Amino acid sequence: MSAHVIQGQKLAEAILDELKLKIEEKNLDQQIGLATILVGFDPASQVYVANKRKAARRVGIRSVHYDLPEHTTQEELLRLISILNTDPTIHGILVQLPLAQHIQTDKIIESLEPSKDVDGFHPLNLGYLLVGRPRVIACTPLGVMHLIRSTGYNLFGKHAVVVGRSTIVGKPLAHLLLQANATVTICHRFTTNLAEITKTADVLVVAVGKAKLITKDYIKPGAFVVDVGINKDEHNRLCGDVDFDDVSQVASYITPVPRGVGPLTIAMLLRNTWDNYLRSKT
Ligand code: NAD
Repeated sequence: MSAHVIQGQKLAEAILDELKLKIEEKNLDQQIGLATILVGFDPASQVYVANKRKAARRVGIRSVHYDLPEHTTQEELLRLISILNTDPTIHGILVQLPLAQHIQTDKIIESLEPSKDVDGFHPLNLGYLLVGRPRVIACTPLGVMHLIRSTGYNLFGKHAVVVGRSTIVGKPLAHLLLQANATVTICHRFTTNLAEITKTADVLVVAVGKAKLITKDYIKPGAFVVDVGINKDEHNRLCGDVDFDDVSQVASYITPVPRGVGPLTIAMLLRNTWDNYLRSKT
């Protein structure tokens, strides 16, 4: 068997095109504002923010960027967020993570006005998701659900295994899968029998950050495999948490890295900004 490879890049472009059209139709070009804040000079974060800003420009969302030096204090960052929280031209505020050691990430996330949180990391937004009345949902889990649904795959009653329990990927994704009526198992670094569990998964989503952790020995034949991980392999090339060539032989669907989940994360960020704008007008 050779798995069907889901092209996340194409799906993401379709979402961005649709968004661009909606913004044009409503004459809202440059009327919706997304503020991005980057503290320090982490090269990976710089690339991520640049890609997000490029996508914003593509759809006609106004991108306002704050490039802050590494030594920015927590108080200075909180002050900036408080200004953006009350700025009526800004509908989404994104603080690029990870932040420097001297800044408490939780404090920063909690300081965001929940209705302008575009990442869905604010505890209020996570809580709404938990009780089944989601408002802003984290972008990567949203992207994963879109990837799965794009194939017509029905999650109802399926066993979905999520490897990784971070607040930005694993936990919110597990709740989305639950809401789609899958039976969900969450695995993490202390799970003792990982392969035994993943081998029972109809849908396996891996968000760990360990290159090629998952080989075909972890897969139930015909499983739907989504790879969230972004790593470098032994040749310094981008790769996921899933050994793509190996797992493709047994899975029914698989997402590639790059051009899988990543582009959808960005597309969902812009969609969240649009949704925040619409909610601000009701
Ligand atoms: P994280 O470090 O916050 O969490 C990693 C999780 O993996 C933890 O819950 C940990 O318990 C678990 N884990 C670690 N080792 C394990 C093991 N051997 N077996 C089972 N579980 C294990 O990471 P994160 O922020 O959730 O990101 C995970 C990966 O996804 C990273 O590679 C990150 O770069 C990538 N990521 C990609 C996107 C995207 O848009 N494609 C978005 C976010 C994160």
